[in-house]
Amino acid sequence: MNQIPFMQTWIDEELIQEVTDTLRSGWITTGPKAKRFREAILNYTQASECVLLSSATTGLELALRFYGIQSGDEVLVPAYSYAASANVILHLGATPVFVDLSDDDFNITASKISEKINEKTKAIISVDFGGMPVDYDGIKQIIESFRPIFKPHHEIQSQLGKILFISDAAHSFGAKYQGKVLSSIADFTVFSFHAVKNLTTGEGGAILISSEIEKLGAKTFLDLNSLHGQDKDAYTKLTQGFVYDIVVPGYKCNLSDLHAAVGLAQLRKYDFFLERRRAIYAQYTSLLSEIEELTLPKEKNGDRETNHHLYPILLDKSFSRNQFIEALSKKGIFANVHFKPIPLMSAYRKLGYSQKDCAYASEIYEKEISLPIYPQLDEENIKFISSCIQEILGGNECKR
Ligand SMILES: *Cc1c(COP(=O)(O)O)cnc(C)c1O
Repeated sequence: MNQIPFMQTWIDEELIQEVTDTLRSGWITTGPKAKRFREAILNYTQASECVLLSSATTGLELALRFYGIQSGDEVLVPAYSYAASANVILHLGATPVFVDLSDDDFNITASKISEKINEKTKAIISVDFGGMPVDYDGIKQIIESFRPIFKPHHEIQSQLGKILFISDAAHSFGAKYQGKVLSSIADFTVFSFHAVKNLTTGEGGAILISSEIEKLGAKTFLDLNSLHGQDKDAYTKLTQGFVYDIVVPGYKCNLSDLHAAVGLAQLRKYDFFLERRRAIYAQYTSLLSEIEELTLPKEKNGDRETNHHLYPILLDKSFSRNQFIEALSKKGIFANVHFKPIPLMSAYRKLGYSQKDCAYASEIYEKEISLPIYPQLDEENIKFISSCIQEILGGNECKR
């Protein structure tokens, strides 16, 4: 039986060629390919500044470090996300404050955020779930309205004078906001290039820096702190002399040229990837729209448009979500669940978080199923998956 995995990475001859080229060049760590990949990301997003990193997680963490987040500070984060969004808050010794979902979509809303803001709130991390941008303008307005109660305890906090807005855009590279490719609308916008994301380098990430934050020295901070605090990177040392200094005790999370080579090849095909994802999304929606037991995801929400990273459906409560996924896997179709709310994870339960921090997100979690979506899936695959879903919900037997 042909199996349909949940995801598949696009690895073609051109990508292999790009990586081989890097290997043959003899330069495999951060150097010329990373420089080109960074320029390509800036060109694609039209952002003014960007730093490449080894993951999105390190980007989120360095953004918090830049703002001097520490013990006693509260950072707002969606309960309905991958644990990385909240783990980084704990790494800084600060307190994650979870924001629950509300009925309308998988993203947190400005009004849910405002309920959790107080004088301890120093930053907000939002998540563009499944590739659908959050209401960036709404969140920025809320942050502005809380300026009078913001209490800085760090030089950069005093200079900015408001809650820091970090977008965990791990899912949303290439999504559209107000008709344009998502760029640096938040203070920091962090993309993931992990193997399961729309655009991958294997492991990797990038952080876009808004011009307001750049004026406070964010680019220099990120460059230094992603490479030991060294004032010259390896390539600059090689080409401009070996003398260097360590100006801060930094971290180590730069992106290598080998990874950047994968990213360069992927980015050249990215518009094609997005077009395939859009077509698959549309096909699912047309084939599944008559099924009463399912709630289908929204492709657009006002001036926001998904990059079709996930196709998250909600199954009526009268069916067991786990049995449904099990039945699909018996047909050779592998679905997934995004996400078990962070407060329900044992590491967070041990800290005292519970269902109370994510009442609505827990309900969504019980019903959510993410269907396979990636460029390699063809029309026949989507028809088969859709007819199997119909069979499981009491329809006729599905056949290839
Ligand atoms: C994948 C993911 C991350 C982490 O990305 P890495 O590049 O693996 O660090 C963070 N947040 C969300 C919502 C994710 O899905």
